[in-house]
Amino acid sequence: MSEGLVTAAYIIAAILFILSLAGLSKQETARNGNKFGIIGMTIALIATIVPIVYIDIQSIIYILIAMLIGSLIGVRLALKVEMTEMPELVAILHSFVGLAAVLVGYNSFLNIFTGEHVPETSTLLNIELTEIFLGVFIGAITFTGSVVAYGKLHGKISSKALTLPFKNGLNLLAVIGSIVLMVLFIMDGGSTGGNSMIYLAAMTAIALIFGWHLVASIGGADMPVVISMLNSYSGWAAAAAGFMLSNDLLIITGALVGSSGAILSYIMCKAMNRSFVSVILGGFGNEGASAGADEEMGEYREMSAEDVADLLKSSSSVIITPGYGMAVAQAQYPVAEITRKLREKGVNVRFGIHPVAGRLPGHMNVLLAEAKVPYDIVLEMDEINDDFSDTDTVLVIGANDTVNPSALDNPSSPIAGMPVLEVWKAQNVVVFKRSMNAGYAGVQNPLFFKDNSYMCFGDAKDSVQAILNALK
Ligand code: NDP
Repeated sequence: MSEGLVTAAYIIAAILFILSLAGLSKQETARNGNKFGIIGMTIALIATIVPIVYIDIQSIIYILIAMLIGSLIGVRLALKVEMTEMPELVAILHSFVGLAAVLVGYNSFLNIFTGEHVPETSTLLNIELTEIFLGVFIGAITFTGSVVAYGKLHGKISSKALTLPFKNGLNLLAVIGSIVLMVLFIMDGGSTGGNSMIYLAAMTAIALIFGWHLVASIGGADMPVVISMLNSYSGWAAAAAGFMLSNDLLIITGALVGSSGAILSYIMCKAMNRSFVSVILGGFGNEGASAGADEEMGEYREMSAEDVADLLKSSSSVIITPGYGMAVAQAQYPVAEITRKLREKGVNVRFGIHPVAGRLPGHMNVLLAEAKVPYDIVLEMDEINDDFSDTDTVLVIGANDTVNPSALDNPSSPIAGMPVLEVWKAQNVVVFKRSMNAGYAGVQNPLFFKDNSYMCFGDAKDSVQAILNALK
């Protein structure tokens, strides 16, 4: 395969990746977006692997074995993973990208260190050493940060923010220490007699701890931004690996992932009224927040599924606000069924979707689309928030943090400042959940104790199915 052909294949793959991103930005075109991505990746793999056949047939066998093992694990995971476990999967996959960048960095460094690869000029040597250092730095942060994100999402690590004393000072120290090590590393020039290896190893240890601390310091409610931020880091780590391997497509793909992840993080920060800088600096400026999951808030009232059905029969406008619990219960199908039933009776039914409802950007939209809820009645938070006061009944299905009024009226809450669906403004609010437990951010929800709120306890799917039966 000639070099020209490889370059042409890389350009086609890069264009397909861009089309894929464009397609994935809308529900209607998401399937095509996925297809473009798959075709692009297939072309990229073929164009990368085939030329190796001509250089080293032995290596291709190892690559194919590694690809086979990787594909088997990938297929098994894809078939096994539940929709609610996708964020954990994404987080752990990001950690692999980070680890790969670290390994590529060390490999490139060892090539220079052992004299196997000698850059032509000292300027080129400095550029390569800088690439290696930055690649390992970003990769190591991405690796441990993603492992902690995985632990938090999987419930193995507390979702509450870790608040070590002088946490911002510690982060600053890590950054300054790494900059000093970088200068020493480059000045040393990667020579065998020097200390380059020690500088690189010391920075790797610092970056691993830094990545762990950055993500551990961020509270549950801010995790969406962290995930998209790690997505972005993993892209930059891949781009750095592309520079080290002199692979143009890896640079382009890494930059696409890095920049789209950064844009998503920015959008998430805006939606959640968070400072982008504060979140990427490990919750800088949020030291005062307190959790308060056990706070006493008074009495709450219960409502049976049959009574909810009666309430719905007498309502002319209904808004459904789904959250993570709907995904856990897989309640989207009976929810879609109720929607159809009520609409047939002339009730104005709409959905209000919070930007961080569930555990993935667009999580609720995907579930509702899967259950064939028409797109035009699924509205974003900004589009529907003013309508709650004119609504008869709101059904809060497995949502908690995203409908918590303390985000607006309790400045010491960890979710303070985050815009929420103002469901309590409706005439009646029915909350579907299994207990009085707090949501992901670990804060109690005053909504449950309001005069117009009713709790409908039980698995959301069972409760909604019972309402459906009562409506028939
Ligand atoms: P929450 O996670 O705040 O709350 C979900 C609620 O669902 C819980 O209170 C739980 O209560 C209930 N629940 C769980 N299982 C069931 C079930 N089977 N049947 C009925 N209810 C159930 O949900 P939200 O969607 O409101 O908020 C999302 C949170 O996740 C936010 O804090 C957000 O920041 C965070 N997050 C979001 C990400 C994203 O990208 N969207 C990524 C990472 C984090 P109970 O146990 O009593 O049933």
